[in-house]
Amino acid sequence: MPIACWAAMAAKESLRPFQYEPGALESREIEISITHCGICHSDLHLIDNDWGISSYPLVPGHEIIGTVSARGANVKSLRLGQRVGVGWQRGACLECDYCVRGEENLCLQAVPTCVGGYGGFATRIRVDSHFVFSIPDALESATVAPLLCGGVTVFTPLRAFGVTPVMRVGVIGIGGLGHLALQFARAYGCEVTAFSSTPAKEQEARQFGGQHFVVSSDAQAMAKAAASLDFLFATTSVGMDWNALLNLLRPKGKLCVLGGAPVPLTVSPFPLVLGQRTICGSPVGGRATMTEMLDFAARHGIKAKVEVMPLAEANAAIARVASNRARYRMVLVN
Ligand SMILES: [Zn+2]
Ligand SMILES: [Zn+2]
Repeated sequence: MPIACWAAMAAKESLRPFQYEPGALESREIEISITHCGICHSDLHLIDNDWGISSYPLVPGHEIIGTVSARGANVKSLRLGQRVGVGWQRGACLECDYCVRGEENLCLQAVPTCVGGYGGFATRIRVDSHFVFSIPDALESATVAPLLCGGVTVFTPLRAFGVTPVMRVGVIGIGGLGHLALQFARAYGCEVTAFSSTPAKEQEARQFGGQHFVVSSDAQAMAKAAASLDFLFATTSVGMDWNALLNLLRPKGKLCVLGGAPVPLTVSPFPLVLGQRTICGSPVGGRATMTEMLDFAARHGIKAKVEVMPLAEANAAIARVASNRARYRMVLVN
């Protein structure tokens, strides 16, 4: 039976109804009946071919929640009807140094869910079962969907870059990623500061877990916050004063770039040299980290704040993300 979905037929175009024939179910594949799919900024970059990796028709959607509707002959780990999720990645070699260490997100042969395959703005999807994750009962489908990409993207750096509960963590940009970073860092035990150019976001930033709030466009407030952080999430890379952000770090502090906009970073070398500060980045997370992240979210009640719209209104939902009106993540439902 063909799979109905929404696709961009060329770069920068609106999505249109599209369908494809999935063929025979492979022995390691799972078919998922999709109930929910989040919209990530990466979907917009893929639709527009900002990274030069897109092929068309392009079906976006890599924050997928649904139930197992079919499973290949060699799949033992998941049962029919089980609630599962799929994130940014649908494949990896499973044999390289990184895959063996549980860092499949760093595999040089990693396969993104929506590149070279069709994504989750659809009624169904088929994915290698290695990249299908069981969803803890405590998490609701709509509010867990964005954790499959956005959540693991902010959780992974806490683990990968040695953040500990005694550290002071900042989050700049209180949007789709930022509101999740605040929740994860606070639940991790850190002292958390939210930075936003929008003073009106203070109350919500504090509800998400920020113990402190700094208006990032206020030079005096930024100067007062100098050398106060061990780790800083930069959830956007557009229009950032990178030297001002480095100035927020204590010696040995790390600035972690998560935004995927193709813009250059301009920094002075002195804060890096004098204080052994680091600029780093991180993409999604490996399979083990994904499972840890979901368990951690269930234990601490972490959930995305979402606006839900029907799949048929995908273009309107994308427009809300593109214009930064989503509070804080859009989720499409079937
Ligand atoms: Zn994403
Ligand atoms: Zn690999």
